[in-house]
Amino acid sequence: MTTPTKDLTIRHVSAVHPADATVIADQRIRIVTGRITDIGADDNTPILPGEFDGTGAFALPGLIDCHVHVNAVTASLGAVADMSPAYVTAQAAGILRGMLARGFTTVRDVGGADFGIAAAVDDGLLPGPRIIFGGKALSQTGGHGDLRPAGRDVHDLHYALPVLGRVCDGIAEVRRAARDEIRRGASHIKIMISGGCASPTDRVDSLQFSDEELTAIVAEAHAANIYCAGHAYTAAAVNRGLRFGVRTIEHGNLLDDTSIELFLAHDAFYVPTLATYVAQVEDGQTLGLDPGQLTKIRSVVDDGFRALALADGAGVKIAFGTDLLGEMHERQSEEFALRAKVQSPQAIVRSATTTAAELLRRAGELGVLAEGAYGDIVLTRANPYDDLGVLARPDTGVLAVIKSGVLTG
Ligand code: ZN
Ligand code: ZN
Repeated sequence: MTTPTKDLTIRHVSAVHPADATVIADQRIRIVTGRITDIGADDNTPILPGEFDGTGAFALPGLIDCHVHVNAVTASLGAVADMSPAYVTAQAAGILRGMLARGFTTVRDVGGADFGIAAAVDDGLLPGPRIIFGGKALSQTGGHGDLRPAGRDVHDLHYALPVLGRVCDGIAEVRRAARDEIRRGASHIKIMISGGCASPTDRVDSLQFSDEELTAIVAEAHAANIYCAGHAYTAAAVNRGLRFGVRTIEHGNLLDDTSIELFLAHDAFYVPTLATYVAQVEDGQTLGLDPGQLTKIRSVVDDGFRALALADGAGVKIAFGTDLLGEMHERQSEEFALRAKVQSPQAIVRSATTTAAELLRRAGELGVLAEGAYGDIVLTRANPYDDLGVLARPDTGVLAVIKSGVLTG
């Protein structure tokens, strides 16, 4: 079974170009076998049956979320280890459907998704955004990807378990783990380089993996011509990751001026994930997060806004990310509203389109309305530069979502 790509022509639509934040009225966009073949001024020829009348609507390139976990089907991540992969996939199907309906036509999974679920979407078996996956995140024993409670010794290392991470220690093991993820088709290697909020036994300010282990993982990724994404909170962890060649920094809530210099020097990407902290502070208790986890989250939520402001002011490349868990996935689009407290609508739209595509090394194909790009389009009811609410509240703001030339929903 192959992706059911179709041909589609959208008429009289206003085209939004994130790269230079321009909006061009009355455009015709033609998509043939899933790719844009033509975009330009429309004319007065009648709208044919099967053509989409975009009068009054705004066409943006399909949105990209660079930090998701489609297998994070519950806020209690440790519980996923005991779930059937079939059950997790069924739950993930609902998460993916929701993402697509909100306008996300591509997501980068940074822990959990494998070649199977990505193929299920590509083959049209599950409606959802295309999944650029990194397999399981690499974690040291007791690190952010080690979800055992302190009282448990054993853990099941079977790869088919739908957990987000894998534990590896020492140069030989980390090399094998990286090579194994590459073997299974990873587009990037995710490394837990600091403690985190969802992990039961580590401190947010801990540094994880030794220098030698980090060097080995980054070398394996580079040898395969892919890159590393690093989960990191403190400036010490962020800076260490950047110095060791980690290309994208996830969260980074406690970064500082010295981190900003390193982002710029290394041409690295910053992927804040504000939505998850706000959602967990507001909903965490009812969704069963443990008190230790909630305390950690409360300690970093405000810093996330400060870090984003610092990076935005300095011109760091910032990509859109959300990192939501379980039922909180429904709050994915709130990230637009949260970032608007700090950034301009132009910068936010870029982060979810052109900058995200550059991060994925898919510039020209994703995040852009141009000849040769995927026919991924979000039609909104208003100009997002005047009213970012059309993206932040997609249930009312989004008119239609088109992925590879197919009208979804
Ligand atoms: Zn993380
Ligand atoms: Zn994450």
